[in-house]
Order: sequence, then structure tokens, then C-alpha cells
Amino acid sequence: MAVLDQLTSQQAIDLENKYGAHNYHPLPVVLSRGEGVYVWDVEGKRYYDFLSAYSAVNQGHCHPVIVNAMVKQAQTLTLTSRAFYNDMLGKFEAYATKYFGYDKVLPMNTGAEAVETALKICRKWAYEVKGIADHQAEIIVCKNNFHGRTTTIISFSNDPVARKNFGPFTEGFIKIEYDNLQALEDTLKNHPNVAGFLVEPIQGEAGVYVPSEGYLSKAKALCEQYNVLFMADEVQTGIGRTGKLLAVDHENVKPDILILGKALSGGAYPVSAVLAADAIMNVIQPGNHGSTFGGNPVAAAVAMAALDVIKDEHLAENAEKLGQIFRSELNAYIKTSSIVQLVRGKGLLNAIVINDDEYSDTAWNICLALRDNGLLAKPTHGNIIRFAPPLVMTEEQLLDCVSIIKRTLQQFETNS
Ligand code: PMP
Repeated sequence: MAVLDQLTSQQAIDLENKYGAHNYHPLPVVLSRGEGVYVWDVEGKRYYDFLSAYSAVNQGHCHPVIVNAMVKQAQTLTLTSRAFYNDMLGKFEAYATKYFGYDKVLPMNTGAEAVETALKICRKWAYEVKGIADHQAEIIVCKNNFHGRTTTIISFSNDPVARKNFGPFTEGFIKIEYDNLQALEDTLKNHPNVAGFLVEPIQGEAGVYVPSEGYLSKAKALCEQYNVLFMADEVQTGIGRTGKLLAVDHENVKPDILILGKALSGGAYPVSAVLAADAIMNVIQPGNHGSTFGGNPVAAAVAMAALDVIKDEHLAENAEKLGQIFRSELNAYIKTSSIVQLVRGKGLLNAIVINDDEYSDTAWNICLALRDNGLLAKPTHGNIIRFAPPLVMTEEQLLDCVSIIKRTLQQFETNS
């Protein structure tokens, strides 16, 4: 079969099954085109995308400003490595630091790499600035976190499926309950070698858990009190998704280390980054850290365009407005529902909890029915469905989606 032959959905699925590692369990739909809030399958059926590639496509599929920047740069210079300077990276660094209000940025490619980078910077800062004894630095993380898939990151995951048979694991992490300030304070008090606290402002993969109001600002204050770096993993929550540029902005918190990925490129290209003040970032010296592709000219061009789009099209504001409508519509439905327990979230990062146990397949079956009705979403657990459409959605489109979701849920009410 020639590579460019048009495949049917089933053929594409069969190829992945036969030749690809089985590290995902995709919803059975095969997409071949995207534009704005829509994607099309190979048979030409159109869907609303309610996942946005795990919040990478905040700016909508194939945004022309981003695609044009990418194509133009791809035709000029794609990769120099950091062995040489290029004329795009400095521009991006100046742009991104001003945009987010930091002294310096370290560009990488994927979210997990950015988290790894943050952990390394934090440890180095602990030894060289804070004065912790060799190999003693500890980092506090939260239960039910999701920060990526590298060996170190899964070392502090508590998801058995992500960890089983991948040991031995990296040491130096203390796990505490999320949204529990007392646990954070006790740990800081009893562990003098803590270098940093790594936290998701909303736990996305865990099922869109929004912490209590004041949690992030008080956690930041505790970190300051104990001279510990507050590291916010905004890979999923950042760049407009929750109704502000960053989710920490809801509490006016400025992380010591800010971790970004996904929508930093609008989903066009893998771009991630870590931002910090000079006093922290300057611990990194030549040879300490790097990546062949990190900060390449295409990534630089794409990221600047993607960030321009967020501001120019007021996407954070739109996410805030549409998120309110979405939750109030769903809450009205839930009042008379037996299948949905609750809706929660911020901006356009939301989830519904299905009235069934975590190991049931109800959420999966609802997602299959949503697909049949023209909307794509994916369970985060057996009983939780995340709803995260591109932020370029209009109110009219959102209301159309709400009616698809209600109609689909209705099918499960009568069946139950
Ligand atoms: N951090 C968070 C909060 C995430 O949600 C994710 C991905 N879902 C990552 C890190 C990892 O990003 P990537 O898949 O690009 O490595």
C-alpha cells in the first residue's frame, strides 16, 4: 500500500494496531483534517474537537497565523542546534520573557522535558544558592499528579499503570495531598532540605481537580517563608485555557519557576519552556543541560505567532466567558440528571463526573455516543470526561455543543 493512498478509518486503525506500540487506547475515530474548532475524519464527517489535543490546540486547528509563521520559517532555516546562534531564538527569548514577566527562558520541546528541566534547575539552585548539602535536596509533589512520562517524573507518580515494571525510580521526592496547605506546611517544617514544590494549578489528567480558592497563593507564601521554589506546571492549564493567561493568575501568584508546553505552539509543533528570574536560571551554565531541537528557529517562530494569537484574539477572555456559560448550562441539566453527578473546572478546562465507579466503562460509552453525535471528548478516568474545546469557539458553537452533550447524556438517562 502506497503511503499516500487514502485509507478508510478501519485500515488506519489496523495499521496502528499492527505496527505501532500499544501505548495508547484511542477513541475509534480517524482524523485527517482540522480547522478552528472542527476536525474531520477520513470519511468526511465533521466533529467539534472537545479535547484540543490535551489543551495544545487552544488557538484552534491550523490557525493561519501560526501555520504561516511555521511555513515561512521552515522554508528559511529549520535547525542549527545550539552549537551556533540563530537569528530567531533571541527574538523568541526576548518576546517570551516580556510576555510572561520573567528574566530568562530555557526552551525545550515537550512538556515532560520542561518539567525535567525545572526539576534540574531547582536541585542545582538548592545546592548552589540555598546551600543544601550534596545529594540531599528534596522536592515536594502532589498525589495524583501528572507531569509526563520520563523515568524521573513517573518516580513520583502514584498511577500504578504508569509505574509498573519501570523501576528503579529516582529518589528525592516527597508526595503530599493536593489542595492541603497543612500537609505542605508540616512537610516544609519537618524537612529542611526541601528545594521546591512542584504543583499543577488545576490537576488536569487526574480529572480536572480545581483546588480551593486561596490554595495557590497560600502555598506560594509558605514556599517563600521556607525559601523553597514554587514551580507551577502550567503545561495544560496555561496559555489562556482557564480564562486567564495562566491559571496562577486567578490568585495573582507568580511562580518562581514557570513550566509551559502544549499551547505554546498552538499544537503546530512541539515547543516547551521554563521561565525564571536570573537568580535562579543563572545556575545553569554551558554543558549543564540542553536539547538538539530545543529553541530551534521553527519553534521560535511558531511560539511567537501562537502567543500573539492568544492576545490578539482575546482567547483567555473568551475562555472565561464561555466557561461560565458551559458550567451553568451543565449545572442546569445536572439538577434533573441521574447519570451526571457534577461539572467542575475553570475557563474552558472542565470535566463532568459520571454517576458510576472509576473502573466502569460508562464514560467511554458516553464518549463513543458523543462521537456519533459529532463531538470528540475522552475520559480521563472510567467515570470522568474532560471537556476542553479550542478557545476560538464562538458562543453559538458552544451552545450547539452543549445541546449535543445534553442530547447524548439523555440517551444514557433513559437507558439506565
Ligand atoms: N504536565 C502536565 C500538567 C500535563 O498535563 C502534561 C501532558 N498531559 C505534561 C506535563 C506532559 O507533556 P508532554 O506530553 O508534552 O510531555
